[in-house]
Amino acid sequence: MITPKEILKSYYGYDQFRGQQESIIDSILSHQDTIVLMPTGGGKSLCYQIPAMVKEGLTLVISPLIALMKDQVDALNAVGIPSAFLNSSQSSSEQRYVNQEINSGKLKLLYVAPERLFGGNYPLKDQLKDSNLALVAIDEAHCVSQWGHDFRPDYLMIGDLRKAFPEVPFVALTATADRQTRTDIAEKLGLAQPKWFISSFDRANITYRIIPKSNSFDKLLEFLELQQSNSGIIYCLSRKNVDEMAEKLQAAGLSALPYHAGLNREVRARHQELFIKDEVKIMVATIAFGMGIDKSNVRFVAHMNMPQNIEGYYQETGRAGRDGLPSEALMFYSFSDYMILQRMVDNAENPEYADVMLTKLSRMKDFCQSSVCRRRYLLGYFGEQQSEDCGNCDICFGKNNQQDMTVPAQMLLSTIVRLKEGFGLGYAVLILRGSQSAKIQEEHSQLSVYGIGKDKSDEFWKTLGQQLAREGYLAEAGTQFPTLKLTTLGWSTLKNKGKFMLSMKMSLSNRKKQST
Ligand code: ADP
Ligand code: ZN
Repeated sequence: MITPKEILKSYYGYDQFRGQQESIIDSILSHQDTIVLMPTGGGKSLCYQIPAMVKEGLTLVISPLIALMKDQVDALNAVGIPSAFLNSSQSSSEQRYVNQEINSGKLKLLYVAPERLFGGNYPLKDQLKDSNLALVAIDEAHCVSQWGHDFRPDYLMIGDLRKAFPEVPFVALTATADRQTRTDIAEKLGLAQPKWFISSFDRANITYRIIPKSNSFDKLLEFLELQQSNSGIIYCLSRKNVDEMAEKLQAAGLSALPYHAGLNREVRARHQELFIKDEVKIMVATIAFGMGIDKSNVRFVAHMNMPQNIEGYYQETGRAGRDGLPSEALMFYSFSDYMILQRMVDNAENPEYADVMLTKLSRMKDFCQSSVCRRRYLLGYFGEQQSEDCGNCDICFGKNNQQDMTVPAQMLLSTIVRLKEGFGLGYAVLILRGSQSAKIQEEHSQLSVYGIGKDKSDEFWKTLGQQLAREGYLAEAGTQFPTLKLTTLGWSTLKNKGKFMLSMKMSLSNRKKQST
């Protein structure tokens, strides 16, 4: 019998297994239900494709990624592994042909979309009874979790399949799952005492940066300039934002196209294709774009808005740098975006669902505001403790670049106090910089702090304010719109009881040093 190692060499041309691949394959071959958590690009496909070749009979691969199936199946057939797929993109004659192939018993791998498995008048689930089913692989297994960011109701039916084939091992694979999602995967899929394989989620080649969302378009252009002709994805919150952003970038002479569910299918497919072939450099998209995009040289992922949860953020940023080369993840954060998302989630129909989503959203906000090394925070969220800071995120860069900002911090804190803690950061900055707006002239130009911060930019003050909030000198309050108030720490700084050290070099200037 041909061994996994021989298959690795002869079919894939690799000499060594990577990470836990070999143990995962062993687990599957010993008939054990298995759960694999491995980051994007880690090499999950081999983990079920190799057992499929070692075992007699058919391996079923359940995947929601219709767009990827054809490529995967073509690649397998090209190296001589008989494979096919079934999904809604096929004509009925194509589907009939695949069904004949299943019945002939010659297929090694069959990729199916979950709806194809259980739907129709002769669901595949029943047809499989007469085939020699050897293994079931569930790709993107986090889709089974209602609390995840990509729930697919059809995935819940996989539990029935598990019951119908008690002798067949099941392997579930995902690149993103926090603790709750992990529990869901095992439970909802009905896996029998599964063996877990959790690889490190660290993507050491990705530089994480989160910067305040003021003048975001200018900052983005500055960032894109450093990227030169690299390819990357820019995520926006709505379809409208996507269209506008793509237009602005095109107007700035950049190679960018939009992608969202509101564009018709052909346009979407064309834009995606151009991006994958490197004929267009920047894909401006809603989160509808990216799942299953197999493009290894994505050099940056930018989020114009905070994502709804850390899993989504991690998965989206994970599309950068699959080839292992240095890559950037940039996010613009503002507290008002948080409030917008909060309102959106709060309007969800199912209150239990809304609760879980709100908790996840608030973890996302904490992540943005935290002054802990980004990578440490992220990995901690996924249950991995790091003993050291990463040295490759905005927080780590900032630590080496601190300046005494006690005086400006006191100016800002005192403005907030004079405003009776009833306003947001933007308004306080207008006062500091001596705005001529009618409302301010009328109501607040008499304040002693009015105009005392004229010599510094709007951006300086906003960055300072966000840092003060991030480091616990200011707290956000207000339900209708964000207002700021001083914490005990803020008060003690205002009363001159401690220095305020800040890294004001939060912008993108560390970048060049990094990528060389
Ligand atoms: P994932 O599904 O986890 O995102 P893939 O299965 O697509 O990752 O694998 C990512 C890339 O790594 C592929 O190009 C694959 O051929 C390659 N790869 C996988 N295993 C190995 C290995 N043992 N040695 C070298 N390259 C590998
Ligand atoms: Zn770090």
